[in-house]
Order: sequence, then structure tokens, then C-alpha cells
Amino acid sequence: MSVSLLNNNYIICNAKVVNEGCVSQCHVYVHNGMIEGIYAASESLDSLPILSQVPVIDAHGQYLMPGMIDAHVHFRQPGATHKADMYSESRAALAGGVTSVMDMPNVNPPTVTNALLEERFEMGHRNMQCNYSFYLAATDGNISEIQKIDKSRVCGVKLFIGSSTGNLLISNDTVLEQVLSTEGLPLAVHAEDESMIQSNMQAYKIRYGENVPIQCHSVIRSREACVAATSKMIDKARKYHSQMHILHVSTANELQLLQKAACDNITFEVCPSYLYFCDEDYQEFGSKIKCNPAIKTAGDKLSLIQAAAMGAVSTVGSDHAPHLWAEKQQPYFSCPSGMPMVQHSMLILLKMVKQGILSIEQLAALTAHHPADIYHVDKRGYIREGYYADMILVDMDAAVEVNKNNIYYKCKWSPLEGKSFPASVTATFVNGVKVYDKGQFADNSLAMELKFNR
Ligand SMILES: [Zn+2]
Repeated sequence: MSVSLLNNNYIICNAKVVNEGCVSQCHVYVHNGMIEGIYAASESLDSLPILSQVPVIDAHGQYLMPGMIDAHVHFRQPGATHKADMYSESRAALAGGVTSVMDMPNVNPPTVTNALLEERFEMGHRNMQCNYSFYLAATDGNISEIQKIDKSRVCGVKLFIGSSTGNLLISNDTVLEQVLSTEGLPLAVHAEDESMIQSNMQAYKIRYGENVPIQCHSVIRSREACVAATSKMIDKARKYHSQMHILHVSTANELQLLQKAACDNITFEVCPSYLYFCDEDYQEFGSKIKCNPAIKTAGDKLSLIQAAAMGAVSTVGSDHAPHLWAEKQQPYFSCPSGMPMVQHSMLILLKMVKQGILSIEQLAALTAHHPADIYHVDKRGYIREGYYADMILVDMDAAVEVNKNNIYYKCKWSPLEGKSFPASVTATFVNGVKVYDKGQFADNSLAMELKFNR
């Protein structure tokens, strides 16, 4: 650990600490990057002799929450650093209250071996401004690499059941079953039925040529394709007792399947884009909101919101998937799917808190406690003594408008430009270092690799 981390001692007072289903007035003492003590605010600082010498950060009644652990980002490095890179996007993450990310393997070259994973950890070490880990992608040919993974270091295995960037689709059922039998590692699954999507694409190509109207995206990457793949994966996870985390659930039908399955080893993610947009928004946003799976109907959006409000959703991840503005202007088949979101997920969720849809305690569970539990992240995701001080301050009255001046993505655009949000993250602490403070970044981030207890 560096000297600056060792000297980093302070107490945050006058905060409403959000943790494990409660909001309590506390002082939080941070020492050497860790949460060393949590004291009821009724205790005066003077009565705590060890604390009388340390600097005080006055939270002025803001919420102090565990930072978001975003288990679904695409930072594009290596291979597409014209779109985004680890440094630019991890800084945007800090501004959005994200203290740890798990970065997806569909980079170039795709992360399909332990040697390539090692290279990405090296890049992360040099560039990441928030804590990080990386997925290995499962392919038809790399089961031996999956079996050699260091489970204490690698967040999980990504399974692309549908199509995505790069050729990472598992098409061989025997291989799929071997992957599903892997023990002790979360399998993060993109579930869309590839053959159904391909036949829809052909039909629309015949009808419209290259210029398929963007509204058709939800019909091409259809509800049926999502339901078929998710249903198949639920069955497989039950059969092989896989620890399966289904990513970006986008339909009410899949929610029903997942709720009916009620299986401890199956969890699922919802992304802010599907809580904020619906297919009626193609008119206003066009291909900016083209993503995979496609944004579905207003009814689906409502069901996802209700599921989150009822505590039925396991995690929220951003699916931060940046592309250049120019790339997003191309006709349907050339326009890449995905939108940048890591900086703005919390804004969408905090708005839901402000509207009374989610409680602030539920927000902490969806963004920090549950990702930490599902992935077995070591000493993060909670405000607990002995845990890393990965925390954010949230001001429920600090409204913000998203615009070019406050977007930190390398691609410099967001589908939310011009939109206002009533509450925002004002400060972010990573390993005890205040790395972000109302638009200002510290240059001494001490980001670390995540470790996993498995
Ligand atoms: Zn993704």
C-alpha cells in the first residue's frame, strides 16, 4: 500500500448511513483505507478520544452508502479504445458513484484464455481508477481455460447464448453443459435465442433492405428470443446446479419464469436502460437506445420497475456499452448496439427513490449488497467495520442535468443528454481515498483488483 493510503485517516460525521436495510445517523471512521469504526451520532466526537485528532468530513446530512459494484461494464480495452478505455470509463464510473466494476470479455482479442486475462489485469492495474475484475468468456473451445481460472481473482465466466460483439457464441450443447457444471464461479449469461433473431433479421432485410426502421429492433431481437433462451438457461441451471446470473432481463415474461423458478442458484440483473426507456422512446431517441436485448414495451418496463420495488430483482448493472456517436448514426444493420450508462445508472435509480418507487435501503441492496453477495466479493459492498471504505455521498436534493460538460465518457454522448434528475452522487470514496468530489477528481486513486471469497 502506498504512503498516501496509510496516511488517509478521517471521520465522516453528520451522515445518514444506509446499510443492510437500515438508515442510521452515524460517524464513520476511516483508517488506512478501511472502515475502522462506526459510532452512533448520539456519541459526541469528543467522547471518542482516538478520533479527536483526525480530520472531519461533514456530510451535512447526506446519505452515506456503499459504492455501486457494477458487475456489467464494457470498457472496450483492448481493441476498441477509440470508443472507450479503462481510464476514461472508470473515471466516469467514479462520478456516477460506482466504486468497483467487472469488465466484460468481448474486447479484441476477446478474453478467452488465462494469459489474456492476465494482460487485462495488467492494463487494469495501470489504468483503472475504480476497483476492478474481469470475466473470461466461454467459447466452444476453451473449457480447459475455464477449469484453470483463479477463482479468488476472476469475477466470473461470461456466457453469450445470443449473439454479441465478437464471435463468442457457444453453439455446442456438450460444451455448454461442461461450462454449466463448473463449480464455484458465477456464470453471467446473455440470454437471447440466436436462431430466432437471425431469421427475424433475414425477414426484415428482405422487407426493408439496409434501412430497417429502428422501432423494429424490439421485434427483431424479440421477446420470444429472450423468453426461449432464458427458459432454456433456467432449466440448465436447475439440472447442473450452476451458479447462474442472468443479465439484462428485459421482459415481463422472463420475470415470471424467474419468479416461478425461485431457485437459489439462479439470480438476475436488470439494467437502468430498461427501467427508464421503452419502445415508444425510439421516436425521440432513435438508435441511441438500440441495445441488446432490445428495449421492450411500456408494460415490460413497468413490470421490471415493480419487480425491483418488490425486492424480486437481484442486482442492477449498467451494461455500460459505449460506441462513437458517428457509429450510432449508421443505418440499422451497421449501427452497433449498446449505450453508455456507467456514470448515469445511479441517477436513474435515485430518481426512482425520490419518486417513492424504491427505498434508499433497496437501492443499496441492488447496487452494492447483492452484487457483493452473489459474486462473493471480499470486504466490499457494505458499510461494515473491517471492510474497505468504498462509499458514496448522495444528496437527494442535488438536481443535475446531463449535458456535454458533465459527461466523462470518452465517446462524449449519452442518451440522457438534456434530461434532469432530482438527486445525485456528490462524492465517491475508493479504498478510503476521496477520488471524486462534486465534479472534481483526485489524481491519487488507489484502485485495487477485487478479491473473491471462493
Ligand atoms: Zn453487456
